[in-house]
Amino acid sequence: MNIEKIEEEIRRLKEEKNAIILVHNYQRPEIQDIADLLGDSLGLSKEAAKTDADMIVFCGVSFMAETAKILSPDKKVLQPSLGAGCELANKITAQDVKVLKQKYPDARVVSYVNTTADVKAESDVCCTSANAVNVVRNIEADRVIFVPDRNLASYVQRFVDKEVIPWDGGYCYVHEYITKEEVLKAKEKYPDAVILVHPECNPSVIDIADKVLSTGGMVNLARESDNKRFLIGTEEGIIYRLKKENPEKEFYPAGRKRFCWDMKMTTLKDVYLCLLDEQYEISLPKGIVDSAKRALEAMLQYT
Ligand code: SF4
Repeated sequence: MNIEKIEEEIRRLKEEKNAIILVHNYQRPEIQDIADLLGDSLGLSKEAAKTDADMIVFCGVSFMAETAKILSPDKKVLQPSLGAGCELANKITAQDVKVLKQKYPDARVVSYVNTTADVKAESDVCCTSANAVNVVRNIEADRVIFVPDRNLASYVQRFVDKEVIPWDGGYCYVHEYITKEEVLKAKEKYPDAVILVHPECNPSVIDIADKVLSTGGMVNLARESDNKRFLIGTEEGIIYRLKKENPEKEFYPAGRKRFCWDMKMTTLKDVYLCLLDEQYEISLPKGIVDSAKRALEAMLQYT
């Protein structure tokens, strides 16, 4: 089948099965182009929960599809590419969180949404990169265990008086390895460009950024800003979206192009087969869904 035929079949199957296709900002361009909803992981899952779709196809990585299942337990949630995981989410287990809780019994646990359902279930509250500072600031505790991203933990620590206890082994390789030197070199090439970086970047990169934003924050700022040029310090996939939505503006990687290989695993053929064969379905134990949902819902009270 050629690409046009695959796209046609995807549209047909989607209608036949009353399915909705959610696509993360880091996915391949051709996957972004077939999205019903394009965005960040939590925003997508929240929107999907509001629709009357019977089936959710989540083009992203596994913790995102799990989050959609947690928020829509009665819908069929499918992930087109079975192997697409998140190296950051996989750096901590529920058992690790239990050990941390024993070590710091007076602390509350805030887990980034980039965690498995099991880790969310062990947490007091979840957060996103956009609301992490507010969640930690507003939670009733003087000490907060923040998992799993140590760079996001250190970013949050800049804005709060309380102690933020990071998970030392936790980082996202895509953001961790963006260097200050390459960002400065890109800035030399485009001196009028605004530097936007994700808070998963390491602190030396955060220090030289003009703005530190979630992917959703980057999309909004690019739309609203009068600036014409931007250097983007996150996974390269979002640049396709930024250019498409703002054709009169220029977007460049802040240094080398950075790829999340798990995000790039999903192909159009995978989405077609996913809808055709209803594979691969996310299934979680009810106890985990209930506890993880409680942590996700608790986030709303602190933002
Ligand atoms: S970019 Fe990093 S945090 Fe996002 S899915 Fe890939 S490995 Fe995980």
